[in-house]
Amino acid sequence: MPWEPLSDEQLEIRELVRTIARERIAPRAAEIDESHEFPWDVVELYREHGIFGLFFDEEHGGLGTGTLLSLVAIEEVSKVCATSGLILAVQDLGSLALKLAGTEEQKARFLPRLASGEVVAAYALTEAGSGSDSAAMRTTAKRDGDEYVLDGSKRFITNAEVAGLYTVFVKTDPEGGHAGISAFVVEAGTPGFEVSRLEPKMGISGSTTGELLFEGARVPAANRIGPEGDGFHIAMRVLDRSRPGVAAQGLGIAQGATDYALEYARTRETMGKPIAEHQLIAAKLADMETRCEAARGLLYRFARMVDEGAPEKELTKASAMAKLFCTDTAMDVTTEAVQVLGGYGYIREYPVERMMRDAKITQIYEGTNEIQRLVISRYMS
Ligand SMILES: Cc1cc2nc3c(=O)[nH]c(=O)nc-3n(C[C@H](O)[C@H](O)[C@H](O)COP(=O)(O)OP(=O)(O)OC[C@H]3O[C@@H](n4cnc5c(N)ncnc54)[C@H](O)[C@@H]3O)c2cc1C
Repeated sequence: MPWEPLSDEQLEIRELVRTIARERIAPRAAEIDESHEFPWDVVELYREHGIFGLFFDEEHGGLGTGTLLSLVAIEEVSKVCATSGLILAVQDLGSLALKLAGTEEQKARFLPRLASGEVVAAYALTEAGSGSDSAAMRTTAKRDGDEYVLDGSKRFITNAEVAGLYTVFVKTDPEGGHAGISAFVVEAGTPGFEVSRLEPKMGISGSTTGELLFEGARVPAANRIGPEGDGFHIAMRVLDRSRPGVAAQGLGIAQGATDYALEYARTRETMGKPIAEHQLIAAKLADMETRCEAARGLLYRFARMVDEGAPEKELTKASAMAKLFCTDTAMDVTTEAVQVLGGYGYIREYPVERMMRDAKITQIYEGTNEIQRLVISRYMS
């Protein structure tokens, strides 16, 4: 048996997710990419097998199995379908503000529905004029009795239209910079809130990415997460924990591409032998596998830090390093996988073409990799 970083119980759950991914999701991956349709059948599969529960504590209807296993699940699914991996990552991303800063009443009201997958979650920070610079956001919330009135828009929001519950960051004090931001839960169907457009994209085509429009949308004050002005702090705490989800997605894509390229290289022959036996191709494959394993090391280290209760202030750098390395690996390794397949790598019929397109977004969302490098540099002692 090869050495394993997971316990027997964790291995059992990984095996379940791996089997579902290989047998039920992999055969759908090309179709999901081509149809550009959100795969509700995959959501149903996750619901049936309790997979969303991996991201939640037992007291809120989850399995309480911890961070490592939740990242392993995203990795396993992303090996075969990055869009389906993203559904898991964003269920976590959209729930984290509630988990980290919600009141007991809010947690009881919302988390069980997210843990079962009855409701899909979204996280809305970005605006047309504020991506990396989130303090420049312009969407506002004005208090009116026991409600807030939201006006403005959010851009590039994953799960727009399919989500039932959106964590939205807005300015309660428009002049207040970072300290003027507050977080709210906004439910789909709230009057004055709609999805005004969906974006066609390079990759992760089955995932919706859309614009949220708020025109006098009234949200109960009971849906504000944390005190007024705490939104930026909450958004950053969320990202420290959610970026590794993107890292896991990137790692999964990279490992999936490596595995496919290896299998191909062992059967494709040129000059009288399998291309895997040509030293230049063998070296490429060895580098791809090594980069995946190094990325996994950083990612699983982050997961252990969370599961073993490392101080929150230590998570920022570890999270940024895992996101940076796993997702740069995804881009580099999938590009190499296309090269290993030669002309076939460039053709839609072969999955590495999709994997290379899917990999690109992992270097961009939840903080671009330039921003990750900035963060890491600030935490170097
Ligand atoms: C498919 C998709 C899904 C997304 N999902 C979500 C979501 O669910 N929720 C959400 O809130 N957002 C989401 N986003 C938004 C995403 O997080 C932002 O696009 C990203 O953070 C970058 O912001 P920007 O596009 O405004 O780029 P900009 O901030 O304008 O950056 C442009 C370039 O400048 C660089 N740059 C910017 N500032 C600096 C700096 N200080 N130093 C060095 N370089 C810098 C960036 O790295 C980048 O290369 C999604 C985006 C896409 C495309």
